[in-house]
Amino acid sequence: MNLLRRHPLALALLALLLLSGLQPLPPLVDAVTGVPPADADLVRPTVYTLLAPPSNVLDALTFLSLERARALLIVWAAALAAWGALRRGTARRRLGRALLGPLGFVAAGGAAVALPRPVPQLVAADSSVTVLDYHAHTDASHDGRPGWTAGDLAAWHAAQGFQASYVTDHNVIFTQPVEEPIRLLPGVEWSVYREHILALGAVGAIDRGRYNRDTRSMLALFAELHRQGALGLASLPEYWRNGWNDLDAFVASGVDGFEIVSCAPKAIAFPAALRGQVLQLAAAHDLLVVGASDNHGWGKVTCVWNLLSPSAHGYAANRVIARPLALAQGDWEPWTAAYTQPWLMLRSLSWSERSSWITWILVILIYRAVPRRSGDPGGLGILARSLEVFALRRPQR
Ligand SMILES: [Zn+2]
Repeated sequence: MNLLRRHPLALALLALLLLSGLQPLPPLVDAVTGVPPADADLVRPTVYTLLAPPSNVLDALTFLSLERARALLIVWAAALAAWGALRRGTARRRLGRALLGPLGFVAAGGAAVALPRPVPQLVAADSSVTVLDYHAHTDASHDGRPGWTAGDLAAWHAAQGFQASYVTDHNVIFTQPVEEPIRLLPGVEWSVYREHILALGAVGAIDRGRYNRDTRSMLALFAELHRQGALGLASLPEYWRNGWNDLDAFVASGVDGFEIVSCAPKAIAFPAALRGQVLQLAAAHDLLVVGASDNHGWGKVTCVWNLLSPSAHGYAANRVIARPLALAQGDWEPWTAAYTQPWLMLRSLSWSERSSWITWILVILIYRAVPRRSGDPGGLGILARSLEVFALRRPQR
């Protein structure tokens, strides 16, 4: 008990881990109904679960809207700096600690974007559906990660359970024949008047200037895409931010569907109430609704998958399966991110992940509880000795 009194933070974290288990969030939900899908599972690799604390933290840093990421960074950097500065020690050590916290936090952000690591995978029970992504980029896009090839993109998708993905670079038509590890499909993301329109399938070149004058000219793109035999989908965040009052005109002009979930930091906070309005419009006109990873080579995890049924068409053809932590981005005010993001992350843990967290905390507590003999170096020797002490204290039979 003395151990816990000396480590109030560890005690608080243990309490939060247990409390959050009383209000669990499902690993996946259907973005239309809000109900966990009965026929799809989120499978975490063993190494992912063994390393649950970094795995979960890096995922939670990935599923942040731009505004919430900013708020989280400011509050946590300030708190860690203050904590470092207020601990006992020489002025120099305190300054070092004050800098270390915020730098560590920024490093975690960098790790979320770029560090290779095991990732969760969606597994669908029904083998007739295709696990699909409609919107992803390579380095052919001006904002794609340098060196991010079509092969890298296909491997990124395959690791997370996708079976196919459209490749939609900005104003560059994708035509590379990639079949392994998953099939990449032809597409493009056209930048036209205040909108980004995903063109999917048999896309051909267009004169973008013709669709770049005003909303009316932009809407003519859908007819051109149909002439080519391609589909045209309205992309987030553009139709939300710039075209919200024109959605009926989108439908009248032949839009084939709407993104309703996007993992892009500028689009992930699309509010549930507005999603509901788009769903109503799409259902009334039997239009497709889709989820988009909008991957650009940054970030290791997707927040959304699509289950495409071959037998259905229009509104019923595609189911959008998302991580609740991503959908929550639109529900919470940005300034709450410093505490709502960690709390939502803890609520999203499976019991295996929660056990992994608890084990790590106990191991670190035991390690820190064993007094070092003067002159002993830190490290695994101490840990081994502390586990020995722990074993000796158990009642003997
Ligand atoms: Zn995009």
